[in-house]
Amino acid sequence: MTQPKYMLTVEGVSKTYDGFKAITDLNFYLFEGELRTVIGPNGAGKSTFFDLITGRAKPDKGKIEFGMNTDLTKMNEYEINRLGIGRKFQTPSVFTEHTVYNNIVLSLVGSRGVFASIFKRLSSTERDRIDELLKLVRLDTKRDWKAGMLAHGEKQWLEIGMLLAQEPKILLVDEPAAGMTDEETHRTGELLISLAGKHSIVVIEHDMTFVKQIARDGQVTVLHQGSVLCEGKFDAVQSNPKVREVYLGR
Ligand code: ADP
Ligand code: MG
Repeated sequence: MTQPKYMLTVEGVSKTYDGFKAITDLNFYLFEGELRTVIGPNGAGKSTFFDLITGRAKPDKGKIEFGMNTDLTKMNEYEINRLGIGRKFQTPSVFTEHTVYNNIVLSLVGSRGVFASIFKRLSSTERDRIDELLKLVRLDTKRDWKAGMLAHGEKQWLEIGMLLAQEPKILLVDEPAAGMTDEETHRTGELLISLAGKHSIVVIEHDMTFVKQIARDGQVTVLHQGSVLCEGKFDAVQSNPKVREVYLGR
């Protein structure tokens, strides 16, 4: 048996904002192909954690590595993204005036420029990939819709499709179910589960039904005051008294 490989190594990381400790001595290890759920109360440092991985913020101390030896702390956001780390913010940001199809096109061939991507022909491989992505995020029947006309949940899926077009190795997804109906939430869970294995994924989430759905047998990390409070399978985490106290409020 080969040893599982870390896709992300975070050790002893701290980040202070004007004296406020947003992240304190954080350790976090993500295995290749893993789907990890991160929960924690508001202000626990969850989004800051993503800021630090993606280079949006820089740690005061500690190690953040892609895989087991590529130091991310010296790289900028663009370089980190190019390595294969894609992030989805809580609010979907799609090009509302462009069609669903062209949103994916722009993400796939963005480096060729907006004009080229829309008016130049795409290769058949690129077209196949776009069709595949549209099916995956269940928007194949709405490919010609303006993205601005989509429901909130569909915009979130389109943005996930746009991220996937960039073939990320690691996907960081911040509260994907926020503002979704129960059905949309469940479908989002199915989508994320289907992406695990091929991608290594970290999902920040609040909705415990959703967390239970996507965590299945996997690890859940609880953040509290910028550190890991506990880590384990969903049932163990949910019944942990420390977690109930800080997170569930009982
Ligand atoms: P969560 O996502 O878990 O709700 P955040 O990571 O957004 O928490 O925030 C953790 C704490 O760090 C909050 O108190 C927040 O105000 C603070 N914080 C986050 N980013 C910044 C920033 N850019 N400047 C100042 N304070 C920040
Ligand atoms: Mg947040």
